[in-house]
Amino acid sequence: MYAFTLERPASVADAARLVGAGAKPLAGGQTLLASMKLRLSAPEQLVDLGGISELTGIRRDGDTLTVGAMSRHVEVANNADVKAAFPALADLASRIGDRQVRAMGTIGGSVANNDPAACYPSAVLGAGATIVTSKREIAADDFFLGLFTTALEEDELITAIRFPVPKHAAYEKLRQKASQFPLVGVFLAQYDGGVRVAVTGAGNGVFRHAGLEEALNRDFTAASAASVKIDASELNSDLHASAAYRANLISVLTQRAVARVLG
Ligand SMILES: Cc1cc2nc3c(=O)[nH]c(=O)nc-3n(C[C@H](O)[C@H](O)[C@H](O)COP(=O)(O)OP(=O)(O)OC[C@H]3O[C@@H](n4cnc5c(N)ncnc54)[C@H](O)[C@@H]3O)c2cc1C
Repeated sequence: MYAFTLERPASVADAARLVGAGAKPLAGGQTLLASMKLRLSAPEQLVDLGGISELTGIRRDGDTLTVGAMSRHVEVANNADVKAAFPALADLASRIGDRQVRAMGTIGGSVANNDPAACYPSAVLGAGATIVTSKREIAADDFFLGLFTTALEEDELITAIRFPVPKHAAYEKLRQKASQFPLVGVFLAQYDGGVRVAVTGAGNGVFRHAGLEEALNRDFTAASAASVKIDASELNSDLHASAAYRANLISVLTQRAVARVLG
């Protein structure tokens, strides 16, 4: 590591001021500290968000579940309100990475980082959640802009994620054994307004699949999902899997998610 200064503000306003002046927010450090050690990131000042109570807590108000940005994965996985209202979200959080990652990693850090293979962005997009920041509210459809890129401005902090509680939802992934991240993950959520399907791990960033959504809105069965041809032309090919393999996984994982919802 190289020299840097560390601030521990007690309020979002103070943290946002520091970030606006060029400091980098530090949540659980699961990505940021590793990238600093590798010299991929070299902030001169870190702002530890761990002492800001406004960023913590999970609460349910009717059909809305609000998860504070500093909620650790293990807290989301074990929270009674999340388990009751949105079990697919608790399940997703319970299967992220390993124990240490779940003990330290946060929903705000994951969503701000927008790793193209991360689990949470697929739940946020699949549920049509709202990203609440220190400045405004951003719909998930407008937030994820591609590889490690979001609509967040330089001096903007995520304070919470607000999820509309779905009628049913499920998350399926194939774990990449070396990194623990999903090779591909599919988050499916059913609302009165229709079905949403978000895919992670397959492309440049998380994305919704219009063909699967249309098919499942017509006929919510695994066979209907299986009938959709998944275009591989814009999917990733790398040493772990070809684009064609990822396309097949999108189909298979969606079918599994539908089967899970149908019980
Ligand atoms: C071994 C390993 C396995 C993993 N497996 C998975 C997996 O299976 N699925 C998965 O989804 N993820 C996985 N992760 C990622 C992990 O879940 C963390 O969510 C992710 O690394 C972000 O970490 P963090 O919350 O500690 O944020 P940090 O590392 O502290 O921050 C990440 C980035 O977000 C910024 N940031 C943090 N909080 C905020 C905020 N509130 N507002 C604005 N910007 C903010 C930081 O400045 C930084 O740029 C894995 C990580 C590791 C190390």
